[in-house]
Amino acid sequence: MKYISTRGSAPALGFEDVTLAGLASDGGLYLPEAWPSFSRDQIAAMAGLSYVETAVRVMAPFVAGSLSEDELRDLCTQAYGRFSVESVTPLVQLDHQHWLLELFHGPTLAFKDVALQLLGLLFEKFLSRRDDHLTIVGATSGDTGSAAIDAVAGREKIDIFMLHPDGRVSDVQRRQMTTVRAPNVHNIAIDGSFDDAQALVKRMFNDPGFSGRFRLSAVNSINWARLMAQVVYYFYAAVRLGAPGRDIAFAVPTGNFGDVFAGYVAARMGLPIRQLIVATNVNDILHRALSDGDYSQGKVVATATPSMDIQVSSNFERLLFDAGGGDGAALAEQMREFEATKAMRLTNAQREGAAGLFSSARVDADGMTLAMRWAYEGGGQIIDPHTAVGLCAAKSADIDPTIPIVTLATAHPAKFRDAVERATGTRPSLPARIGSLFDREEAYTKLPATFEAITGFVAEHATAKA
Ligand SMILES: *Cc1c(COP(=O)(O)O)cnc(C)c1O
Repeated sequence: MKYISTRGSAPALGFEDVTLAGLASDGGLYLPEAWPSFSRDQIAAMAGLSYVETAVRVMAPFVAGSLSEDELRDLCTQAYGRFSVESVTPLVQLDHQHWLLELFHGPTLAFKDVALQLLGLLFEKFLSRRDDHLTIVGATSGDTGSAAIDAVAGREKIDIFMLHPDGRVSDVQRRQMTTVRAPNVHNIAIDGSFDDAQALVKRMFNDPGFSGRFRLSAVNSINWARLMAQVVYYFYAAVRLGAPGRDIAFAVPTGNFGDVFAGYVAARMGLPIRQLIVATNVNDILHRALSDGDYSQGKVVATATPSMDIQVSSNFERLLFDAGGGDGAALAEQMREFEATKAMRLTNAQREGAAGLFSSARVDADGMTLAMRWAYEGGGQIIDPHTAVGLCAAKSADIDPTIPIVTLATAHPAKFRDAVERATGTRPSLPARIGSLFDREEAYTKLPATFEAITGFVAEHATAKA
């Protein structure tokens, strides 16, 4: 399988190179040259398969040429063996039409584990083939940092430097990062905001001398391998609910458009998806783009769903490319315009290409609270605020009542205990497997938010040196 860039001028690469590169050299994102597809019989034959076997079937075409089926199976067995339930991503029924797909049974309690646990293993495998090292640098306001650290802790070929704003992440989130004690894990609390942290990371990547010397790499959802790993649970859930014999709809709490784009990929591969409901909070750039073609950046508003407080969705570019006819040169021009003016209109082809599958909804704090209460009082389920945004959108969608609607449950409610308690009156407890979080010792370094301080620290501690 070869991958091409959405901006049309980077060389086509195989899966191994695409995984290690993350972003394409022309600033675009990688997509497969052509979508693999499954027949109805092939999808029907997935019934009864374990999560790992489903993962091998769904991902094998994407890794062809870089991993054998046995290698892929071995990595999936390791990655998904770390989840606390046998089915990895269980389905829970709420009523005759609504289901939850619980994606939070991994080590850090958010759906990001599903992709990052595999990505950590892929990095290690590919780096050991080349006898090479990588330095992962990231800024986090919560979920991504802990999931990335857990995924690479103790791996020999990788160092990870994760910046968080000192005093501005929750105790649970900080401890999930700082109690991971491994020589390759470096937590840095900067004296500044999340935006400062992100600006510092960007500057490191944009400094070719520095990023080349330490072989910097990113683990955010622009990495194709992360999206690929997320395609699996759409197949797994849909087949359990009767696909390909009937259509299934999905409602997805959305920020960077990674998770819901994986659903689009599943549909392109032949899974009968009736509709993908993109649920945003009041940071609604995607809702505006999908409902009236207006992709213009607003100001980020802080909400109870911080992982969706985003005003630019990097992976949306992948949809614009694929649904808009695959013209890389035209998209590069369109993205240049967006980067200069922070606004653009979708073309008619892009709007029509998306309209067949996507709908969208903007959910405010009241909608979120009502959905949390409905799940609790009606379905006996305590759900987290992100999941509640998805469920609210699912319940207001205009879909034939015989079609099951699956809401992706993206975080464990215990990660957002205060918000859940406010809405339902019940305070969810931390699962036993991370219950000792508050007894473990923390390690992190406090640094001023300056380029010199951070790069000096990375230079001193990174193993990769060109
Ligand atoms: C990251 C995240 C999201 C958003 O997912 P995208 O792939 O960025 O759209 C939603 N909910 C939770 C809990 C998350 O951590």
